[in-house]
Amino acid sequence: MLTLVWLIAVIAGFLVLAYVNAAGWLWSGAIALALAVAWVAHLLPPLLVIVPALVLVVLAIPLNYPPLRRALVSDAILAIFRKILPQMTSTEREAIEAGTVGWDGELFSGRPDWRKLLALPAPRLTPEEQRFIDRECEEVCGMVSEWETTNIYKDLPPQVWQFIKDKGFLGMIIPKEYGGLGFSAFAHSQVVAKLASRCSALVVTVMVPNSLGPGELLLHYGTDEQKRYYLPRLAKGIEIPCFALTNPHAGSDAAAIPDFGIVCKGEYQGRQTLGLKLTWEKRYITLGPVATLLGLAFRAFDPDHLLGDREDLGITCALIPTHHPGVNIGRRHMPLNAVFQNGPNWGKEVFIPIDWLIGGQAMIGKGWRMLMESLAAGRSISLPSLSTGMSKLVVRATGGYARVRSQFKTPIGKFEGIEEPLARMGGYLYSMDATHKLLAGVVDLGEKPAVLSAIAKYHLTDRGRSVVTDAMDITGGKGICMGPSNFVGAAYMQVPVSITVEGANILTRSLIVFGQGAIRCHPYVLKEMAAAHDSDLKAASVAFDRALFGHIGFVLSNFARTFVLGILGSHVVAVPDVAPETRRYYQQLTRFSAALAFLADVSMGVLGGALKRKEKLSARLGDVLSYLFLCSTTLKRYEDEGRQAADAPLMHWAIWDAMFKAQTALEGVISNFPNRLIAAVMQRTVFPLGRPYVVPSDKLGHDVAKLLIEPSATRDRLTGGMYLPQAEGDAMRTIESALEATLAAEPIEARIREAQKAGRLSIKLGEDRGSAAQAANLITADELALVRKARRLVDQVIRVDDFAPDLGVSEMRPPAVTPTSPEVARKAAA
Ligand SMILES: Cc1cc2nc3c(=O)[nH]c(=O)nc-3n(C[C@H](O)[C@H](O)[C@H](O)COP(=O)(O)OP(=O)(O)OC[C@H]3O[C@@H](n4cnc5c(N)ncnc54)[C@H](O)[C@@H]3O)c2cc1C
Repeated sequence: MLTLVWLIAVIAGFLVLAYVNAAGWLWSGAIALALAVAWVAHLLPPLLVIVPALVLVVLAIPLNYPPLRRALVSDAILAIFRKILPQMTSTEREAIEAGTVGWDGELFSGRPDWRKLLALPAPRLTPEEQRFIDRECEEVCGMVSEWETTNIYKDLPPQVWQFIKDKGFLGMIIPKEYGGLGFSAFAHSQVVAKLASRCSALVVTVMVPNSLGPGELLLHYGTDEQKRYYLPRLAKGIEIPCFALTNPHAGSDAAAIPDFGIVCKGEYQGRQTLGLKLTWEKRYITLGPVATLLGLAFRAFDPDHLLGDREDLGITCALIPTHHPGVNIGRRHMPLNAVFQNGPNWGKEVFIPIDWLIGGQAMIGKGWRMLMESLAAGRSISLPSLSTGMSKLVVRATGGYARVRSQFKTPIGKFEGIEEPLARMGGYLYSMDATHKLLAGVVDLGEKPAVLSAIAKYHLTDRGRSVVTDAMDITGGKGICMGPSNFVGAAYMQVPVSITVEGANILTRSLIVFGQGAIRCHPYVLKEMAAAHDSDLKAASVAFDRALFGHIGFVLSNFARTFVLGILGSHVVAVPDVAPETRRYYQQLTRFSAALAFLADVSMGVLGGALKRKEKLSARLGDVLSYLFLCSTTLKRYEDEGRQAADAPLMHWAIWDAMFKAQTALEGVISNFPNRLIAAVMQRTVFPLGRPYVVPSDKLGHDVAKLLIEPSATRDRLTGGMYLPQAEGDAMRTIESALEATLAAEPIEARIREAQKAGRLSIKLGEDRGSAAQAANLITADELALVRKARRLVDQVIRVDDFAPDLGVSEMRPPAVTPTSPEVARKAAA
């Protein structure tokens, strides 16, 4: 019996040591103590004490003395590591090393420090930025409509092009000293979200020059002369930029572009000049057809060694005026009926002087690094903000529609079947808004969130797609028939564009989130890899030893923490001062963070380099990281907004949904893990008492759906920052008015129905109920007017557009040549 107690105490003690990631000497001392107790109390046969004691002495001394440990253990492992570690190409290394690690590192640590997340300041707009959003953004949104841009102009109307140029929309990220607006990342993201709630052509046209492209690249890498010349022109829209990377043969695998430039001498402005002869073919290039300044990525070669010994210099970026002889540009693609400018461009043996390279000759061959370093900021803002803004429009409009559209004498939003998609839309939007705001905020704090921006790009565009698909189901035929009053059809058509660009979603999920996350966010892996590639053998030995033994402690700790927190339901996790209703979420997230770190290490340890090809496993591990991040932003939002009790259902729904999905992803990793023995250990460690999470409850879903279909401060907060048109006849305005009028008229309608039931009012066939009720003095003239107004507005909302037999082609004439047509724009710039 005593032996059993001793054994239990030993296991518990070891779990505690592993849990707290105790130092090696503490382990040695604890093992010695356990053996001493067993010896003194005669708990084990002498041999079972003496042999482990001898092993302890033999191991403890070298393991606790680093120089000896290196000589006996880690140098040998380092030698093997050097042999088996696959050589990384420079493009792979530059992609992995780009950007910064922030909250993603905490989530990967197995013990996230929630105080760090909560201490992040909530982003704020300056008065000037707020004014821009209230005035210029409002004004430009009022100047466009999705229907007109798509069907009449097939572009932004000329006056809108002029407005966005004049007001500096195209130079939001350009500092004031160069004539730009010099906005913060947060302001930039708020502008994008607002424009996205109005018109896709508008938002994409504004978004692209402010994202990864000539402006951003010039700011970071341009020569002073390039900055002085181009930035003021870009800021004022004198130059329209585009950035061309994608080639027909290299889309997702962008580093493999076959476009090339040969370093040579050529004639430019009548003089022999050092430069490059470029041959390229690009497609899908946004703003390309109207661009005056082409940012071009290609591979530079120096076969005649005019610059040095190397021939293949690597990916390089240049800025080429589109009127330059040999540049073919102007034709358009039609991406899912969206009318933002997009098209191919190409050139053959086009000579450009070397100082057209971004950053000049010094930056030749450094294009991939430039792109990877700059990607994180733009990716944190453009598509996450676009998807959030578009979802705000769709959620607000669909919620209102579901309340005013009745079937079976009931508003459709009150059917349980419709509540389900409504709840998903609301819960998703709450966390989308939280995520895009937090990311913009951390960019303003100087971070370049490489992994978190990939997560946001993938999940927010994917959620945007889900929101729009749900809206289509809820609106039925109204969403299907296109016309000015359809508020969801265009978004439904165009949503795959966001899914595909800036790293197609499947690739981002399968290869980037975990692939990059595991290496960048892990506290030891990058250090081990760096040591293995270090040519200074002594420094490598010290660094590798430290990283290796840190790593072993880390794995043991995460194993113990995952198991112990699973057994104790994570109740022991200390949580900072947060809303009491969210306390358990922080504890469970800490538990899942430990599980992620544990499974990630086991997967990397067992599968090694093969994990890169096991995309389904790596995608699921990435999903866990992603859902932990989405939960973090959701909780942070709840705190930042002052723990709004009325919004709590949205927060709870978003967390339960994401935690359930994180749990499903963990299970997916375990049940598909190739080594079944290890999978069994994983299962017992991660879920020792079964699964803690289920899908969000029906009751919670009901509470969320209710918030979407009636006006409230919560609905306003959920869709805050979107454009709310004031113009009569606008589809969104009509829904808002119809919703207000319907709710005001409902008690009156109820009185009429009651009177009818009680026999106090009889209505003849074909007679208007309202008129009959007023004639019977059951309602006043004002009340009758209200009832009629509500019916008229609801009729307008549910009406769908119809057209002449030619589908209105004759009515929708394109305007004559506009100032934005490619020829005019390029001539003007020339
Ligand atoms: C409207 C639009 C605007 C664009 N704007 C620009 C622009 O301004 N400038 C520019 O340079 N480019 C632009 N692009 C190009 C865009 O970045 C590419 O379309 C994108 O990189 C995907 O390339 P692809 O279309 O050739 O698809 P492919 O690379 O052929 O991919 C097809 C599918 O395979 C998946 N896939 C590929 N590799 C893997 C993998 N290893 N594991 C798992 N799945 C994988 C992808 O996720 C995708 O689902 C634009 C594209 C569109 C459609």
